This record gives sequence, structure tokens and C-alpha cells, in this order.
Amino acid sequence: MPDSIDLNEFHWLLAIVQSIDVGVVVLDRDYRVQVWNTFMENRSGVQPKDAHNQHFFSLFPEIDRQWFSRKVESVAALGTPAFTVWEQRPYLVRFKSYQPITGQEEFMYQNTTLLPLRSPDSKISHICLVIYDVTDVATNRHQLQAANAQLQQLSSTDRLTGLYNRGHWEASLKAAYARHQRYGNALSLVMLDIDHFKRVNDTYGHQAGDQVIEQVARLLHEHVRDSDVAGRYGGEEFGVVLSDTDKVGARMFAERLRHAVEELQVLFNDQSIRFTISLGVADLSQPATGHAELIARADQALYTSKKTGRNRVTVYTG
Ligand code: GH3
Ligand code: MG
Ligand code: MG
Repeated sequence: MPDSIDLNEFHWLLAIVQSIDVGVVVLDRDYRVQVWNTFMENRSGVQPKDAHNQHFFSLFPEIDRQWFSRKVESVAALGTPAFTVWEQRPYLVRFKSYQPITGQEEFMYQNTTLLPLRSPDSKISHICLVIYDVTDVATNRHQLQAANAQLQQLSSTDRLTGLYNRGHWEASLKAAYARHQRYGNALSLVMLDIDHFKRVNDTYGHQAGDQVIEQVARLLHEHVRDSDVAGRYGGEEFGVVLSDTDKVGARMFAERLRHAVEELQVLFNDQSIRFTISLGVADLSQPATGHAELIARADQALYTSKKTGRNRVTVYTG
């Protein structure tokens, strides 16, 4: 102990190291534990007398040895501290998380610091490891990320159906149109509208009408591929963007969907509601001025389906 620190001061320092709410471990150059504070004792369940002179890696077999020893060796060689934050590595040693309220994380997130300790002859004979519990910070960050993801999801989806809302759906169509222009891959659009939907509302009530809309959305979900984008275009009107699909493929999709709706029975208050849809199909085999023209074409084909008897698919032919 250097003369400049008197004995009182030394004991105070020890008491402080013992009581602070961070982990303090001093290792010799063979990675054997020389100091083990109360935080380490409480979190690991290993008492200081049992930790003393133990090899650090045998106490914590989960440590990435290669990474940790490279870090320690560079601290010893350069004589400068090194820091690791939880975003790089969630933890160094695996401790249980003791978050009393949030309690969502299964382990303690840690920031760590390695400090070179010099002996009186100014050689770096020991390394001090400091472990900070930053589980609170990580939990907050994770909650924020989850909330943001949910918010993003909410603002792009329609509440009743879980399909994309019109704004997001049209943005997707625009992007698909841009890809078509750049790479020339096929692109089709299917627009559909429930037939005589006002009658459903009038006969069974608005809530029944909502259920019918939900069921159509569910069938849409079931029939589209991952690369297709289905959206609620209006009250009981839907649009589906089919990438890499020409009007032949799009017509097949539309027919399958029309048939599935025709077969569907929606049960509401012990009543069975049956209904049909009309569909319009368009693709870009004839050049268009933009994505809006594709919508107009599909809409025109849908109008033809309505005029010619409903419960049918019409393909736009120009
Ligand atoms: P058509 O076969 O020509 O399509 O006849 P239709 O009765 O379905 O006519 P239209 O498509 O114009 O009807 C739309 C109706 O859908 C009007 C509106 O009251 C109803 N509607 C729109 N959004 C909702 C909704 O979210 N829930 C319910 N229950 N009804 C809705
Ligand atoms: Mg309708
Ligand atoms: Mg309509």
C-alpha cells in the first residue's frame, strides 16, 4: 500500500468497493480472482473466500474466452481502460435479472469496464473488471422498440380487417409499379366489391355487415401469397397487388376467391348469411401512365362485372 494513503482511507475505500451497486473483480495476470465484492457475491452466490484465487473462466464458463482474454491482454499491453456496452454484447457473465417491477428480461444486461492496475514498480500486474447492471436501460429500449413497431403496424393496417389500409396499400402498389418499370416484371391488380352489401346491412344490421367484411378479409389472407399485398380500399371494397403475375394468373386467383366467397356462410345470431363478390382484373400488358391507371382499369373491369350480373370476374381488355 502506498504511503500516501493512510490506513483509515484504505478501509474506507474497501467499504465503498464492497457496498457499491456495481460488480468489482480484480484479476491477476493468470485470470485468478483477487477481489470479489458484495455485488458479485450476491449475484453469483459465490462467497469471496470461495472465489479467491479461482480461475475466472472456471467461475463463469459462459464467457467467450478468446474475446475476453484478447480484451484483457490489450488493456495490459496498452495500459488504458476498455469499455464494452450491452448493445455490443448483452452480458459478460450470465446473472439472473432481478427487475422487481418490469421483470421481463431473463438475464442482467451489462456494461463492463476493464481497468489496468499498476503495482508500485508501475508494471500492470492486475486488471480490475467493473460490471454495471443496465437491465433497466435495455428493458426501456426494448419496450420502446416494441411500441414503435406496433405503432407502425397500427398506422398501416385497417382496424376491422387487419389488412393494409388504403394509404399503405396504394404506396405498396406504387412501389410495385416502380419495380415493374425498372425490371419489367409482370404486375396485376384485382379489385373486388361485395355484392348488394347494403342489403346485408339492412337485413341483418351493421354488426353483421362488419362480420361479413371481416370474413372476406380472412379469405383474402388465406388466398394471397407472401409477395401479394391485400388492402381495404374502401368500405367493402378491396384491392390485391399480385407481383410477378400476369392477367391469366390473376384471373385464376380472382376465380378461386370468388368461388370461396360463394361457398362461405357467415353465422350471425344463429342466422346464416350468404353473399357474393364481383371482381375486376387488370395487368400491365398494355403500357400505362402510372399505378393509378392500373387501378382505373381494374375498377372499370369490376364495374363491368357488376353490370353483367355480379358474382363474376372480368378481365380488362382495353
Ligand atoms: P353493389 O352490388 O352494387 O356493390 O351494391 P352494394 O349494396 O354493395 O353497394 P355499395 O358497394 O355502394 O355499398 C356500400 C355500402 O357498404 C354502403 C355502406 O353503408 C356500407 N359500408 C361501408 N363500410 C362499411 C363498414 O365498415 N361496415 C358496414 N357494416 N357497412 C359498411
Ligand atoms: Mg358493394
Ligand atoms: Mg362498394
